[in-house]
Amino acid sequence: MAAVRIAALREVSEIERRVAIVPEVAARLVKGGYEVLVEKGAGSRAFFPDQSYTDVGAKVVARAEAISGSDILAVVDTPDATLLGATHQGQVIVGLLGARSDPAVAQALADAGVTGIDLAFMPRTLSRTQTMDALSSQSSVAGYRSVLVAAEKFSRYMAMMVTAAGTAKPARVIVLGTGVAGLQAIGTAKRLGAMVQGYDVRPASRGEVESLGATFIELQSVKDAAGEGGYARALTPEEQAAQQAELEGYVTANDIVITTAQVPGRKPPVMVTAKAVAEMKAGSVIVDLGCSALGGNVEGSQPGQTVITDHGVTIIDGSNLAAEMPGSASSFYSRNIMALLGILVVDGAINVNLEDEVLTAVVVSHDGQNRKAN
Ligand code: NAD
Repeated sequence: MAAVRIAALREVSEIERRVAIVPEVAARLVKGGYEVLVEKGAGSRAFFPDQSYTDVGAKVVARAEAISGSDILAVVDTPDATLLGATHQGQVIVGLLGARSDPAVAQALADAGVTGIDLAFMPRTLSRTQTMDALSSQSSVAGYRSVLVAAEKFSRYMAMMVTAAGTAKPARVIVLGTGVAGLQAIGTAKRLGAMVQGYDVRPASRGEVESLGATFIELQSVKDAAGEGGYARALTPEEQAAQQAELEGYVTANDIVITTAQVPGRKPPVMVTAKAVAEMKAGSVIVDLGCSALGGNVEGSQPGQTVITDHGVTIIDGSNLAAEMPGSASSFYSRNIMALLGILVVDGAINVNLEDEVLTAVVVSHDGQNRKAN
């Protein structure tokens, strides 16, 4: 039987530095009987030169050959129309395809006749999907990185410092939204020596926040907004206004604010209002992981920018932080892809088994059908 051919492409966006297959995973795939194609320069922005792929038995080829010569395309971001136009019937494309936030993506994949596998639909609470959970692996990198970029912009120490020239107080950090990214941010801020608070609308996260040595904030206005599948539900407008008002005191009492709140299928909730930003001390730093063109968790955050307000509060777009740490992010991401191949490729052949509860969740298009159409 011919080997299954898998290709990693160079991501089109200039700010996307990750690559879907790193050399270490390419080596394991080659050993496992795959033919691995890598577009020239695919790993260069993550410091994986072409040679590191050829050294382990992968073939470095032009983009057109990677697309036309593969059965499976591994990508990081949403494929654009040009890429979809170059695919062939029945080809599999796997990645964080963006179908969860944009329903048009699954239709475009179906129209192109490809089998789209969007890792963002991974059922996250099954034990066998832990190794395939790209949302978690990438959120974890982003949460870690958020504290480093905040610390870099902050003008004071993160840790308490006792020196001959005096004592510096530790920085005060609050993390709003304590899912995967938020917990990683808390752990990182603690390791740097900051005093850390965490807040979430899911009461279940209290124990996780406290186990990292941070203080869990409980608001009077919103006690419990846990939704389905471990996610939060959207707040009503009244709840949201009350939450924003109550959070203001906590936000202004801290030096660094990291926001990570997401609600599946919705635009991120605003947690830090312009009024709260205006009342923060000069020198404070905010990192908004939910920042997007549609708005984020923080009023005044701007995609692709670091904004410094007139009174000296720095607001950083934190939406691309995983791509800003592309070495680790790509390594974990490509292990997620390899784990998925473990259920997609059976006895050396692709088998899109829609009876499998994992594949049925992540396959967004197949045989020309949009599987996420309502
Ligand atoms: P997410 O990215 O969807 O959201 C980040 C956090 O923001 C969540 O904790 C959410 O509760 C919180 N949030 C949303 N709206 C909010 C609001 N208005 N105010 C305050 N907080 C708000 O979440 P995630 O990090 O992907 O994790 C979602 C859930 O999935 C968590 O319960 C996590 O523990 C769980 N999870 C479980 C596993 C597993 O079982 N192995 C793996 C991954 C994730």
